[in-house]
Amino acid sequence: MAKVAIIGAGIAGLSSAWALTKDGHQVTLYEQGPIPNPLSASGDEHRIIRRAYGKQSGYQKRIDDAYAAWEELFADLGERHLKETGFLLISQCEGDEADEYYQGLVEGGYPNHKMTPKEAAEKYPFLDASTFMYAAESPEGGALLCQNIAADLKQWLLRNGAELRENHKVKSVAPKFGIVDGDHYDQIIITAGAWVLELMPSLAEHLTTYRTAVGYYTPPQDLAEAWAKAPVILDVGADTDGYVIPPIAGSGVKLGTGLHKYASLPDHNRVAQAQEAEEIKNHFSPPFNRLNEYIHEKTVTCAYTFTKDSHFFVHQVKRVTVVSACSGHGYKFGAAIGKQIAKSVTNKDYESLKLWLEARD
Ligand SMILES: Cc1cc2nc3c(=O)[nH]c(=O)nc-3n(C[C@H](O)[C@H](O)[C@H](O)COP(=O)(O)OP(=O)(O)OC[C@H]3O[C@@H](n4cnc5c(N)ncnc54)[C@H](O)[C@@H]3O)c2cc1C
Repeated sequence: MAKVAIIGAGIAGLSSAWALTKDGHQVTLYEQGPIPNPLSASGDEHRIIRRAYGKQSGYQKRIDDAYAAWEELFADLGERHLKETGFLLISQCEGDEADEYYQGLVEGGYPNHKMTPKEAAEKYPFLDASTFMYAAESPEGGALLCQNIAADLKQWLLRNGAELRENHKVKSVAPKFGIVDGDHYDQIIITAGAWVLELMPSLAEHLTTYRTAVGYYTPPQDLAEAWAKAPVILDVGADTDGYVIPPIAGSGVKLGTGLHKYASLPDHNRVAQAQEAEEIKNHFSPPFNRLNEYIHEKTVTCAYTFTKDSHFFVHQVKRVTVVSACSGHGYKFGAAIGKQIAKSVTNKDYESLKLWLEARD
């Protein structure tokens, strides 16, 4: 049994604490804010999971592990915090990201149903049929309910003997001696998300921190029923890099786009600006119609890190392992990452952890 400190209680840190505790290790989890922390990348209401992965074939191969780890976690929590909606792709032009995802679905032999714009707009009347080339849907995807997962994980950890140090911002780590703010550990796991460079500034050559925001909107009354039955939308086509989560658990339609981001420190500009609600919404017309009738509910800011090639990041120095499940696609692997980290501590096998997380094959 090892005495393990984990710094950061986003999904990577919480899942690591869960898996390490199950493996019999003595875990102390530090979090600079509350758990869940709304400022963490894992702190928003939901994140998308889907079986088909697109171009990054290494992550495609790890998706079964991701689903299996969530099922194990949900069994321990006694609640399945996954809303299985399936997913929709809307391709506006040949070769756009939605089209690439669709080709991946076909090549991988995943279930899918391709629709003409007319068929898609009849089924999903919030779409403007004149603005896109085709739509395709798959039953294998949905939304993970992040805040519920974090809240239940916290209770599970407390029940199972882990120590949680909330509202404790770690100031110093000594990798050689295994010291975190003066306390000694056998192993230290840093899962500090966008704040990782404050503890490990030398990693700035690998990781860049961005600030982004997502908007929540109430759709017009007559579209509410269609939205209530809608799948998550993985990509809305063209160069929008836009995704949508339909209303779930009382929240409005969530719109997010990779275009609405800039490099920034993690605590900078975390209060959303009024104009962001319109800026985000404007990226979604096309392919949506009547967006001017959607009423803004709230804007949520997020900070996250990216590597140059969007693969996850792992770094080992002495007793410290730094893991960044980053580049805007890490949540769906959260439970599996926790299990991989625990395995690496138990087996003292860092190389296998690196191979799994970087997913280069
Ligand atoms: C807008 C947006 C949309 C996304 N959509 C998806 C999606 O649909 N599907 C998907 O799979 N992924 C998605 N992602 C990516 C996913 O959210 C992240 O990969 C994942 O949440 C990262 O989890 P983490 O635990 O590594 O980091 P975080 O969740 O950021 O957690 C890090 C934690 O460390 C704490 N911390 C930092 N420094 C210290 C310190 N010194 N002391 C104590 N605590 C500290 C922080 O407070 C924070 O709670 C999205 C990301 C964003 C921003």
